[in-house]
Amino acid sequence: MKLKDWLKRANPLANKEDALSNGDVHDLIRYLETAELDCENVFRVLDQFAEIEVRKEDAARIFPLVREHINECHDCCDEYTALMEVLERAQPLTDN
Ligand SMILES: [Zn+2]
Repeated sequence: MKLKDWLKRANPLANKEDALSNGDVHDLIRYLETAELDCENVFRVLDQFAEIEVRKEDAARIFPLVREHINECHDCCDEYTALMEVLERAQPLTDN
């Protein structure tokens, strides 16, 4: 996955995506703002987007263009919904 390689290069100490620092997130936002946001690019960050959503963090604020694309694109919306189901099932429920 190209984006993960890019993230590792941006911060060699961050081997796991859940170890992302704020600086990484800002770099990621900059990357996303300059990248053309077609389905291929959305698919690349969709797992991270979903992971942020599952953690009840504001993914739409971090990835506004991804959120926008998911709202408008059936393919990406289906993929996102499937990902969320998998992640929510894998995630131990913390609020009960
Ligand atoms: Zn799409």
